Amino acid sequence: MVENLRLETSSRELHFRVVPDAYTDLLDATIQRLEELKGRGTRFVSVSPETLAALALAPRSVAASATSVAPARPLAKASPSPTVEPVRGTTSTLIVEPPDTSAAVPSTPPLNAEAKAAAFAELRARALACVKCPNLASSRKNVVFGVGNIDAELMFVGEAPGADEDEQGEPFVGKAGQLLTKIIQTMGFTRESVYIGNILKCRPDTPGQSAGNRKPTPEEMQTCIPYLHEQIDLIRPKVLVALGATAVEGLLGKTIGITKLRGQWRTYRGIPLMPTYHPAYLLRNQALSEKRRVWEDMLAVMEKLGTPISEKQRNFFLKG
Ligand code: URA
Repeated sequence: MVENLRLETSSRELHFRVVPDAYTDLLDATIQRLEELKGRGTRFVSVSPETLAALALAPRSVAASATSVAPARPLAKASPSPTVEPVRGTTSTLIVEPPDTSAAVPSTPPLNAEAKAAAFAELRARALACVKCPNLASSRKNVVFGVGNIDAELMFVGEAPGADEDEQGEPFVGKAGQLLTKIIQTMGFTRESVYIGNILKCRPDTPGQSAGNRKPTPEEMQTCIPYLHEQIDLIRPKVLVALGATAVEGLLGKTIGITKLRGQWRTYRGIPLMPTYHPAYLLRNQALSEKRRVWEDMLAVMEKLGTPISEKQRNFFLKG
């Protein structure tokens, strides 16, 4: 018989499907330990890639102890330290499914203002000290963590810092950023009232090139995305806007072109997500029709948030 076990110990979820044998003892102990941690307010635990790989092997003997689950890190494939002992053996199967980005927001109650600020500061400190991508850690000037209101109802997610952002340590401050700021203001918000982050917190390096940007690699995205997941979990915005294909890919795992995806509501773990073009695309393609498309996406966002929309705002970028 195959059992489905869901560990809801943090905002990330793992679904374990196992054939029961002695291995269930390990799972029971692990679940018990995770419940204890959850009861004490721990929101994340760390599971390393090595551990996941080892768990994928069928178990013979239960080698891991429940104390091997460590608190205070996201359940990220890229977490550095192994925290559950490998189990090896015979016939059981274990399938670790990726997080379901359409599933509901964490069941954990929201933190009070003080605890939230402290958790955000801790997360920021962790990201600022990150050296998981050694090439990016050595080429960056700054880790670009994110900017804005940690209680924002609206959060924008871009791809990765460019040269200006790397220089200043703040997302979207270059030409594309200035356009994003204009869009935000035209919606009736300010940069300070929303939150702005990126899939990658370091500028993708371009060795041997004096200028230009490159798209983050899948490995870089996978390594860095847990920080963004944690940011979103803490902020709990009402609406997310994914700017460009990389942001959609990072948040939803979709690699379909942004032209097909934009303008259609998606869900990131219970949060409505609007994919739209990246402002850098609008800088390259000055057509009024493309500006209008992005603007229509933003009108939909405003409607979702219940923000009043003036007649003037409705008609921006319409011909004649
Ligand atoms: N483009 C992005 O995707 N993010 C930034 O922070 C700047 C430019």
